[in-house]
Amino acid sequence: MTSNARLDHRDPLVFDTHELGRRPGAQQRLSRTIDAPKDLGLQGVIGVPEGAPVELDLRLESVMEGVLVTGTARAQAEGECVRCLEPLELALVAEFQEMFSYPDADDRGRPKAEPVDDAEEDEDRLFIEDGLFDLEPVLRDAVVLALPMQPVCQDGCLGLCSECGERLTDDPDHHHDAVDIRWAALQGLAGSLEDGEKDKMSGDEPRSARAAEKQEK
Ligand SMILES: [Zn+2]
Ligand SMILES: [Zn+2]
Repeated sequence: MTSNARLDHRDPLVFDTHELGRRPGAQQRLSRTIDAPKDLGLQGVIGVPEGAPVELDLRLESVMEGVLVTGTARAQAEGECVRCLEPLELALVAEFQEMFSYPDADDRGRPKAEPVDDAEEDEDRLFIEDGLFDLEPVLRDAVVLALPMQPVCQDGCLGLCSECGERLTDDPDHHHDAVDIRWAALQGLAGSLEDGEKDKMSGDEPRSARAAEKQEK
């Protein structure tokens, strides 16, 4: 076995298969609400806060090799919008299916592999130990897969103004007249020549003058 510590049946993410038994085809449904473990989600992006309720619905199915676990986890995830940094919440639904093998199924079924291969494979495989299995790695993977890598507060969030940091979604028409210092200088010049009647920055720019000509043709 690769695990260092024995599974503890008091751990909320450890499930007991004794009641299910080993007769292939036997099924059992289990529901449990647990406190989210630490760092459940995409660190620094979005995740389920530690201690928040996570509703688990599992179906255990006994097969020859072990127990096939199919399930759903539901929780509220919290993070912030990658565009405007506004806090956001989303209802997370993570589905998973995983095989937990009986440790002895290994010896029966397959020829002994090279020790190196064996070690590699054992890292990926999950086992039932003393009739118990640990859902935690399965839950962690499922939650990460179900969460958005780039969460946004709403579709089409406009992000923040690069000038002043205001949230553009709150004020889509938001703009600054002086976009950069050169434009500011030009605007100042235009303003001093005639008093602001014409629309900003058009008259003194050869390129926009040419564009205007083109439009007239
Ligand atoms: Zn946003
Ligand atoms: Zn701004």
